[in-house]
Amino acid sequence: MHAADNVAIVANDGGLPAGTVLPDGLTLVDRVPQGHKVALTAIAQDAAVLRYNVPIGYALKDIPAGAWVHERLLHMPEACALDQLPQATAPRWDAQPLQGYTFEGYRNADGSVGTRNILAITTTVQCVAGVVDFAVQRIKEQLLPRYPNVDDVIGLEHSYGCGVAIDAPDAIIPIRTLRNITLNPNFGGEVMVVSLGCEKLQPERLLPAGTIPLRAGESLDVVCLQADQHVGFMGMIDAVLAAAVPHLERLNARRRETVPASALVVGVQCGGSDAFSGVTANPAVGYCTDLLVRAGASVLFSETTEVRDAIAQMTARATTPEVAQAMAREMAWYDAYLARGQADRSANTTPGNKAGGLSNIVEKAMGSIIKSGTAPISGVLSPGEKLQHKGLHYAATPASDFVCGTLQLAAGMNLHVFTTGRGTPYGLAEVPVVKVATRTELARRWHDLMDLNAGRIADGDATIEDMGWELFHLLLDVASGRKKTWAEHWKLHNALVLFNPAPIT
Ligand code: CA
Repeated sequence: MHAADNVAIVANDGGLPAGTVLPDGLTLVDRVPQGHKVALTAIAQDAAVLRYNVPIGYALKDIPAGAWVHERLLHMPEACALDQLPQATAPRWDAQPLQGYTFEGYRNADGSVGTRNILAITTTVQCVAGVVDFAVQRIKEQLLPRYPNVDDVIGLEHSYGCGVAIDAPDAIIPIRTLRNITLNPNFGGEVMVVSLGCEKLQPERLLPAGTIPLRAGESLDVVCLQADQHVGFMGMIDAVLAAAVPHLERLNARRRETVPASALVVGVQCGGSDAFSGVTANPAVGYCTDLLVRAGASVLFSETTEVRDAIAQMTARATTPEVAQAMAREMAWYDAYLARGQADRSANTTPGNKAGGLSNIVEKAMGSIIKSGTAPISGVLSPGEKLQHKGLHYAATPASDFVCGTLQLAAGMNLHVFTTGRGTPYGLAEVPVVKVATRTELARRWHDLMDLNAGRIADGDATIEDMGWELFHLLLDVASGRKKTWAEHWKLHNALVLFNPAPIT
């Protein structure tokens, strides 16, 4: 990955046996599995093992050249201090603006643009989830065929309930997450709420006056299940269907319009990562991130435990010292959150990550942050906050796929890019998810789940630039509805999973 590295990874399918002589004359002294590291030179005990020109660990004993360098040979570096970070020190980004790129989207009254036209029914509390799910099925069967321009009807089901200590300071995170998901660009400003009635999180607290778009003379549209007029279960279902009709009518009247690519809000994420993630898919995504930023669009990168070990690089790329300080503040908050549970960032890596060649969180982080490209970081969002201006943003979220996706939806994401090496069928009902495979073997085996094969970079069939442009054009096609992702085709929808650091009683 860098000329200074003393390890490289074996790209060959199935790995390479001991005794293999590499083109530069190095002989493998161990069998090295695919995606795993091989020592390019002898590495003395306590010396740094360098990948991406970063110490991803220190040798626990002497490692000969040609040996398999796995996690059991490495001592992980400490997380760097947060009080001496560079602030907005990176050289000026001199990339030229990209002009003339457009997509076909749905313009919203608040200036945002949807890539899909969906009726989303907001719920205040988990108690109503079953009723809303039943009603959504009825709407799909009985009403949706009459509104062919509406892509889907979904219930925004979630785990929030009265057990959450609603006045605890951290409860603001799940509450603002739900509020801001309701305002996601793909829902067209059509806010419809199903409430139970007795819950702590009343509709007026979830969506206070002034936070949602209302037409003149209208108040928040709420179906309250405990209201006296609903007699029996079918009374509730009929009320939800009746409430849905005007929203469906207005959504159905909308048409796609040509809008500049700057209206895209792309959330990037990885999951089920392997050592190829940082070599193929994430660099291609990073190149595409730069293209999107050059086109004036917004990109959200996230996954705090996968940014923590690269924080000095990231604060250097901040546009102002204030943005750098906000990033450091999010890291410190997350360090404390993990410490409360007697854990740290090293809890991030999975057995699959390690089997795929990622020795520890430092190595994983260096491969993960490449998704953010090279553009300046112009803003920071705390968990559940909504985007306020364009450009590359650090949206602080856990790395957990569903929690990260849920928080990126709240930030205003209208398109999601997801890279995977081990393979995951991840998808969301709210926005299209474009999945990028890190390896050709995965892309072939999961030919009807992966939307793009970045493994071609490791195969030597495409460059990072080629794949970055290909992804950029694919995003414009998917955003325009000209192409569907595989997750949309199969309707693979993961749940909304709230990040709730507040106590539950
Ligand atoms: Ca993730």
